[in-house]
Amino acid sequence: MYSTGEWVPLRRMVFHPGEPSMWNPVENSYRVPFDGSFKIEHADTRPPQSGPSRKDLKAQLKAEVAAVDTLQEILFAEDRQSLLLVFQAMDAAGKDGTIRAVLRGLNPAGCQVFSFKQPSARELDHDFLWRTAQRMPERGKIGIFNRSYYEEVLVVRVHPKFLGMQRLPPYESLEQIWKHRYESIRDHEQHLARDGTRIIKFFLHVSPDEQGKRLHRRITKPKNHWKFSSSDLAEREYWTEYMDAYEAALNATSRPWAPWYSIPADDKPFMRVQVAQIVHKTLKDMDPRYPDLSDEDRTALVAHRESLRPEGEED
Ligand code: ATP
Ligand code: MG
Repeated sequence: MYSTGEWVPLRRMVFHPGEPSMWNPVENSYRVPFDGSFKIEHADTRPPQSGPSRKDLKAQLKAEVAAVDTLQEILFAEDRQSLLLVFQAMDAAGKDGTIRAVLRGLNPAGCQVFSFKQPSARELDHDFLWRTAQRMPERGKIGIFNRSYYEEVLVVRVHPKFLGMQRLPPYESLEQIWKHRYESIRDHEQHLARDGTRIIKFFLHVSPDEQGKRLHRRITKPKNHWKFSSSDLAEREYWTEYMDAYEAALNATSRPWAPWYSIPADDKPFMRVQVAQIVHKTLKDMDPRYPDLSDEDRTALVAHRESLRPEGEED
C-alpha cells in the first residue's frame, strides 16, 4: 500500500489505443437530448403498445443481466474504470426493485449501493456534493446511487425551505442557486468522467395514476405497510412542481459524458429490461479488458507454475 505523498507507479497495464470512450453515450430512444429540448409532458410513462410479451421480457432481462455479469468481472479485473448508475424518481416508481433486478446475479464484491435520504447534521456542514463524492465507486466497481446529489435540485427546489438548514452564503435569488448547482453538477460529472468514472442516470418516470395505485396497495396489503409513508402522499400534492424540477434538471445536466435516460416506469418488467440493456451497452462501450502482463510478470508466472506443479503431473 502507498501512503499519501508517496510516488505511486502507474499500474502495469498496456493502455488501449484510441480515444477514451467517455464521450460516447449509449443510444437509446429514452435518452434525454443534450440540447435542452426534453419535455417531460411528452415523455412516456407507459411502454409502446406493441411491446414484447411478459415472457419475452423475462427472458430478455435474464440475458441482459448475464451479459452485465460477464462484463463486470472483466471491469473488476481491469481495475481501471468505474461505472456509476444514478437512480432518481418519484416515490413508488420502483427504484429499489429495479436496482435489485439489475444487480441480481452480479458479484456483490464488485458493486457498491448507497441510498441518500435527508442529509445528516454532519452532511449539512459541507458543500452539497460532499456526501456523494465520498461514495463514488472505486476503480473496477459499479456504484449505484439510490437518490443522489440531484435531490439538491429536485426536492430542495420544490421545498426551498431546506436551503435554510444548509447555511449558505448570501445569494441573489433562488434561480441563481439552481443555475449554479446545475453548473457545479455538470463540472463535477465531467471531472469524474475524465478521471475514469462512466456515469449514467435514470429517471424512472411513473404517472400520477400509477403511483396512486401503488401507494393504495401499500395501504391495503399488510405486508406492504412498512413501505408506506404519509409523506409520500404529501409530496404527491407537489406533482407539477416536481415535474418542472425534473425537466429543468434533466435538460441542464444530460450531457454526452453523463447522459440521462427517462424510462417509462408504469410497467415494471419493461422498465427493468430498458435499464439492464442500457447498463449492458454502456459496459460494452467501456470495453474493459483483462490486464496484459508485462514480460517480467509473465516470466514470474512461469516460474510459479513450475514451483506449484503437483509432483508427477504434466501441464
Ligand atoms: P422508498 O422507495 O422506500 O420510499 P425513498 O428513497 O423514498 O425510498 P425515504 O426514506 O422514503 O426513501 O425518503 C427519503 C427522502 O429523503 C426523500 O423524500 C428525499 O426527497 C429526501 N432527501 C434526499 N436527499 C435530500 C436532500 N439533500 N435534502 C432534503 N431531502 C432529501
Ligand atoms: Mg419514500
